[in-house]
Amino acid sequence: MDFELTEEQKEFRKNFRAFCEKEIVPRASRVDAEAAFSFENQRCLGEIGFFGLPFPEKYGGIQKPILTCTIAWEELARACPSTFLSCGLSSLFSGMAIHLFGSEEQKQTYLRKLISGEKIGAFALSEPHCGSDMAALKTEARKEGEGRGYILNGTKAFVTNGPIADFVILFAITNPAAAPDRRMSAFIVEKGTPGFSAGPAMEKLGARGSPTSQLTLKECTIAEDHLLGAEGEGSRYATKVKELGRLGYAAYSLGVGQACLEESIRYAQERQAFGRPIAHFQEISFKVADMQMFVDTGRLLTYRAGWMIDRGVEASVDISIAKLFTSEAATWCAANAVQIHGGYGFLKGYKVERLYRDAKLGEIGEGTSEMQRRTIARSLLGEGF
Ligand SMILES: Cc1cc2nc3c(=O)[nH]c(=O)nc-3n(C[C@H](O)[C@H](O)[C@H](O)COP(=O)(O)OP(=O)(O)OC[C@H]3O[C@@H](n4cnc5c(N)ncnc54)[C@H](O)[C@@H]3O)c2cc1C
Repeated sequence: MDFELTEEQKEFRKNFRAFCEKEIVPRASRVDAEAAFSFENQRCLGEIGFFGLPFPEKYGGIQKPILTCTIAWEELARACPSTFLSCGLSSLFSGMAIHLFGSEEQKQTYLRKLISGEKIGAFALSEPHCGSDMAALKTEARKEGEGRGYILNGTKAFVTNGPIADFVILFAITNPAAAPDRRMSAFIVEKGTPGFSAGPAMEKLGARGSPTSQLTLKECTIAEDHLLGAEGEGSRYATKVKELGRLGYAAYSLGVGQACLEESIRYAQERQAFGRPIAHFQEISFKVADMQMFVDTGRLLTYRAGWMIDRGVEASVDISIAKLFTSEAATWCAANAVQIHGGYGFLKGYKVERLYRDAKLGEIGEGTSEMQRRTIARSLLGEGF
């Protein structure tokens, strides 16, 4: 087994971290405090080719292995979790849906502009009454006869980038009578389409610089060429993109955990109590040691999953293991980073206070910890356990 990154990957991490330190880190606190998406971050990331990392050159991408992409996602999340949630997990993964399942024309129209950073994407599956239970969707897409397009009605909930997205990959029921995994189709819905509207950004605990909203569809008519791939394939497409999304969430939590570790080391060496740096107390130094153990293990699991995808090995359960572990580890690291900071950790403006709020999302987004445990258990015990 080879645990070494290639020289190219090491160099890539070094350069991307330097970029994040210069461009993203300085804005992270304000992005959170003002709950405002940074279009400046979006612009810079577009300029350095971040959005093109997993995509072919044909569409303006620079196609790197998923493991290399994972390193970039981790670094961006370390710098600013909100920016990674909006620019990475939501925008980039809506591009992934088009890359994997879209027509050539859709790739030229949407993927190319997403890669250049000109357009922002979103991915709308969850609804107000269901997030974990994909089979309970109610949003409908009715076909009004050949060549007359689809009419969409329904509400989508918790859509990352909802208020700012130029287009949304949106899932709706096209055949309610079909088997559960054949009922749903995926569509590309553009901002400004009559009958389509985004609600205001919701107030959130964490990841506040990533706007989240409801989307409403009222007799919203879209042309047939806005269907993504084939009718009835939505469930399969969503499962595939969400699988990569779960890897993205593992990277999110890894970045948050790493940031907590670094803040804790710095503060433990600086802060004095009883005439010495608090790092001298075993109660503090062991928390830092445990943090390193959690982050390191999470990194091994996350990179293993990325490495498996690059080799074409089935990785669904391994991705769930990586997501489950890193997200719960990040919550633990954040809670202990606050503890190490004492009263200051509880104050606005201290980085660990923000990380504590950002960490929790890792256990909820793109499949809760409970759903990850179900996936892992099912792989061990079979369907009917
Ligand atoms: C900041 C943020 C951004 C998001 N972005 C997006 C986005 O861009 N696009 C999108 O489509 N969605 C998005 N989501 C939605 C997210 O995917 C869902 O919140 C998540 O999947 C959980 O669904 P839910 O909130 O409906 O909870 P529910 O499914 O109602 O679950 C509630 C609780 O019950 C548990 N539970 C449910 N079913 C089971 C079961 N069978 N066994 C055991 N426990 C169970 C859950 O684990 C959870 O603890 C976002 C959410 C947040 C908070």
